[in-house]
Amino acid sequence: MHSNVVFFESNKEQLLRQTFDHIKTLSYPLVKMNQTHSDNIHLINPKTLQKKITTILNTDCLITNSKNIILAVRTADCMPIIISHPSGYLCSIHSGRKGTEKKLLQKAIQTLSKKTQSNKDFSIWFGPHICSHCYEINSKTREYYNLQKNNITQLQNELNLSENHLIVSPYCTCCNNTMYFSYRKNNQTKRRNFFFCYLK
Ligand SMILES: [Zn+2]
Repeated sequence: MHSNVVFFESNKEQLLRQTFDHIKTLSYPLVKMNQTHSDNIHLINPKTLQKKITTILNTDCLITNSKNIILAVRTADCMPIIISHPSGYLCSIHSGRKGTEKKLLQKAIQTLSKKTQSNKDFSIWFGPHICSHCYEINSKTREYYNLQKNNITQLQNELNLSENHLIVSPYCTCCNNTMYFSYRKNNQTKRRNFFFCYLK
């Protein structure tokens, strides 16, 4: 991520309660999503935000160009994606299989390219997510889904990756289950990993 982006996360080791103590000391507004595996992109209007926490309904992608607004995405096997651009744009995405099939990442890049008038110098971070070996989607046909590969394809459809910077987390939430909550590994747990970022 670019040096104008601050990032932190909560997971099995760094629990959400501790992270919220840190967020309180920042006293910045936090924006979270009521994630619905949609391809809806929400552009944040800072004037409409609550002082502490604002929940955006029915969206899986947040975009802001305002400083000191914390974007939150929650996952347990789906992929969190954070995109930043040096012109001062930040984007946070919840990308599961459904969102990926609806081409959410590709649509987000199209929106960001329009906003920034640029198709280079983006920094794209693929956070911890279920790997293709763990993500069986049909036990009869033994079909597996590759979240990472499908999202990389969408990036390549919009951006020249040699002019942009892609960072992929080495962690599978299912394989590295001591660190991250996994819906599949932990009996459909309601607990989630949270990924936070803001422009400073
Ligand atoms: Zn795995």
